Amino acid sequence: MGGARLPGLASRSQKPFYPLAPAPAARREALSTRQEKMAIDGNLYAAFEERFRAAGEAAAFTIPGASDVSYADLADDVARMANALVALGIKPGDRVLAQVEKSLANVHLYLATLKTGAVFNTLNTAYTTAELGYFIGDAEPALIVVPSEKLARVEPIAAERKIAAIATMEADGSGSLTDLAQRQSADHATVARASDDLAALLYTSGTTGRSKGAMITHRNLASNAEVLHACWGFEAGDVLLHALPIFHTHGLFVAMNTAFLNTSRVIWLPKFDIEAVMRLMPEATVMMGVPTFYTRLLGHPAFGADHCARMRLVISGSAPLLAETHAAFEARTGHRILERYGMTEAGMITSNPYRGGDRVAGTVGYALPGISVRAATQEGAAVAPGEVGVLEVKGPNVFKGYWRNPEKTQEEFRPDGYFITGDLATIAGDGRVTIVGRAKDLIITGGFNVYPKEIEEELNSLPGIGESAVVGVPHPDFGEGVVAILTPQPGMTAPGEAEILAALSCRLARFKLPKRVFVAKELPRNAMGKVQKAELRSQFAKTFSE
Ligand code: AMP
Repeated sequence: MGGARLPGLASRSQKPFYPLAPAPAARREALSTRQEKMAIDGNLYAAFEERFRAAGEAAAFTIPGASDVSYADLADDVARMANALVALGIKPGDRVLAQVEKSLANVHLYLATLKTGAVFNTLNTAYTTAELGYFIGDAEPALIVVPSEKLARVEPIAAERKIAAIATMEADGSGSLTDLAQRQSADHATVARASDDLAALLYTSGTTGRSKGAMITHRNLASNAEVLHACWGFEAGDVLLHALPIFHTHGLFVAMNTAFLNTSRVIWLPKFDIEAVMRLMPEATVMMGVPTFYTRLLGHPAFGADHCARMRLVISGSAPLLAETHAAFEARTGHRILERYGMTEAGMITSNPYRGGDRVAGTVGYALPGISVRAATQEGAAVAPGEVGVLEVKGPNVFKGYWRNPEKTQEEFRPDGYFITGDLATIAGDGRVTIVGRAKDLIITGGFNVYPKEIEEELNSLPGIGESAVVGVPHPDFGEGVVAILTPQPGMTAPGEAEILAALSCRLARFKLPKRVFVAKELPRNAMGKVQKAELRSQFAKTFSE
């Protein structure tokens, strides 16, 4: 990696495209070992409902401290919630905006929104009311659902936007919406939808500029759920441990939709509480998490193989999993974490193999069946196997475009339908993908490309260093200067700057070496465990100018 600057990677201009390279056969075999055709068409909830009714009294949710909820009860509750939405005037195509905590009632709301043909617009609970105002103005929802503490601030915004329906939902699921749902009948005919109709509007995290609404269709969700169900070997008796938030594609779609297709029992935790996770893990066969889940588990001295006694699959995604974490998890539990890669706009794109191939730490595996990926320069010229390029993706998983933003949509799609992910990656000759970082995190110093991940991996392998983040900040001579921020390994003192640079200088070309190294107590991360590099860049912006 690294080396001379790749033409076009520094500028985000567009256009020419190139023919699709044939998909290597090896990766197809690795991922499609058990891909039976389910081919769900139309409204995704119709497919769920059929399965929920067939599963009947089988447990859908286990919630600590409460009795299990059956699939039959889940289907009834969703139908009641759908009737509540109809009573509030919701019609197919309307947006239902919800900024509420994780609860079963929130799941009912998600599924009922699909059932009525409306569009689920769920928002990160961390957004402030001012930010909420932007989303309300942009999405123009027909219904807003918030906890009662937000009501006084949301009502004037809704009045200004002439949005008549506001309902409340508290963290425990109670509130005016659930009250209304409980008074409804459990008879509701699922509204027919075309596969291309919208199911959800999810706003991207928007680290540069305003968040954009990703329009996600029923086909996007159904195709991804089917492919993951098959590739990850979902089977009768599977039990999923769910400790992720459900305002994000990972917890909302990847975890729940695959479990629903399989009518698996879901162990439902409102958040990642390590004691609760360790207590319930031995019942689970599948766990989906972000890397911080696994580093926190490994940080607990009592965590070990017994916790994974029934586990058949431990999955990580949403942020890079360190190779050290992968190795430490295997050493402690005997399980090789399966890392996959995806994003709001495209659901899951690649996965390490479940069967029939190796799960290689630091890589995100192969494009899922039916999905094509390629790596290109910013101008769209193919890069050679193993060379860094911007990853582009095409398939039934790729969203319909940005909500009311045709210019942005046009900018991010190639004329032949590939979506430009903005992630830098290499694709090996056999199709295995390695994510190198976000294109906007690429550092260009003195005309050379520096990929932060390469430096971070070297830093992480040094004794005394826990985690690291490498960013580029303005430099008077080099354009950008490489800065490393690291945390000490728990219970140890991090090595000094000179010692670190001496250790790195025999492993990395001179232009890649950090010009400054800083130690921090922890790295800034968002709810999905992603390191907030934009925040670090602004925090260290004056490093070379002061
Ligand atoms: P989001 O839209 O919030 O799901 O964020 C998607 C972004 O997360 C991707 O574009 C990647 O930059 C990053 N990401 C997701 N999974 C991985 C992974 N396994 N390794 C590295 N980055 C990842």
